[in-house]
Amino acid sequence: MDKQGFTTSIVHGDRITGTEHGGVRQPIHTSVQYGFERVEDLIGVFQGTRKGGFNYARQGTPTTAALERRITSLEDGLGSICFGTGMAAITAIFLTLLRAGDHLVSSRYVFGNTNSLFGTLRTLGVEVTTVDAGDAENVKNALQPNTRMVFVETIANPGTQIPDLQGIGELCRERGIVYVVDNTITSPALFRPKAVGASLVVNSLTKTIAGHGAALGGAVTDTGLFDWSAYPNIADDYRRAPAKEQGLLQIRKKGLRDMGASLSSEQAHSIAMGAETLALRVKQSSDNALALARFLQGHEAIGKVFYPGLESHPQHGVAQALFKGASWLLSFELRDAERMAEVVNALRLPIKATGLGDTRTLIIPVAPTIFFEAGAETRKAMGISDGMLRLSVGIEDIEDLLADFEQALKLAA
Ligand SMILES: *Cc1c(COP(=O)(O)O)cnc(C)c1O
Repeated sequence: MDKQGFTTSIVHGDRITGTEHGGVRQPIHTSVQYGFERVEDLIGVFQGTRKGGFNYARQGTPTTAALERRITSLEDGLGSICFGTGMAAITAIFLTLLRAGDHLVSSRYVFGNTNSLFGTLRTLGVEVTTVDAGDAENVKNALQPNTRMVFVETIANPGTQIPDLQGIGELCRERGIVYVVDNTITSPALFRPKAVGASLVVNSLTKTIAGHGAALGGAVTDTGLFDWSAYPNIADDYRRAPAKEQGLLQIRKKGLRDMGASLSSEQAHSIAMGAETLALRVKQSSDNALALARFLQGHEAIGKVFYPGLESHPQHGVAQALFKGASWLLSFELRDAERMAEVVNALRLPIKATGLGDTRTLIIPVAPTIFFEAGAETRKAMGISDGMLRLSVGIEDIEDLLADFEQALKLAA
């Protein structure tokens, strides 16, 4: 069949690749063990000569494999591996592809737990340098002879900084460095990092890909652009595979199989159901976020508004050029930080909760919660003020959201 559109290929994917009894979606396979009539087939699955077989659920089930196909299709990649959480996916990349003595360059603006993971990498002998990746020159200046990998996020949380995605991609290609892009905030509905030369793409499936906030999951997708035959850290065992497949094979064996942060079939099924409406939800929540950002920008009680869809955003041009929308992540500052509790408590629709990419709007004050442990100095360096509020905008009707913010902000005016 011709290459189909984004949503068409998601909603028909399971049926076309085949299910039992004509089921339109892949069922939940709960079996841990997989048995064979002939012992040769069992051996073939172990040795990788019998493609598509299963032996033990820690390494995957037909249900997780169906979700992996779905993610691969969303990212237009070569293949994907699903994990129990987004952090497990990121950890598997770092621990299986980096060795003591290697160097990693990352954007300074990354998810808090990823930043905390850099501390662990340093204790294991991996050097980590963080830079302002808004300019590829800063990444270039940080490169060392032992730099093996560059890591960025598409839109940073909570400050919405966007790296020079294209420039860094060109730099990594020239130098033969693995380029890892965490696509969680944009999701493949707004942006495919393959377009800027990413080698590996990370998605926290927990967020907007599932969308319902009822399952945890993560995925790594290989775009097929990186030449693993020249990468020094691939174990001899995996060199026998075709060059393009070696990276993902090592992540699956050393990361998923050995480290064991597997996704269950139940969660995979739940995520796959959510993913069917990804493009529709992201469109609605991004449109809502833009309307809210415009409203907030003009409000007397509000200081800065952080949203890449606004012309005033420093990387507005990059967002316009690369993304189909500016996402559902929106932060803003109350001019009077002391009125924070009053205003947030007056909001009726947004749920006072952490979490991102839900169908419901979520709100959280940044400094006293997700960046509390970071301390005042780090917050200042990251541009996080005491009055900063982060919104994960949902798919509610925009009139209701605007009316709610209008009544709550009267208190702060
Ligand atoms: C939430 C998040 C993660 C981690 O995902 P979990 O599924 O919660 O482990 C990684 N990166 C980004 C950008 C995130 O927002």
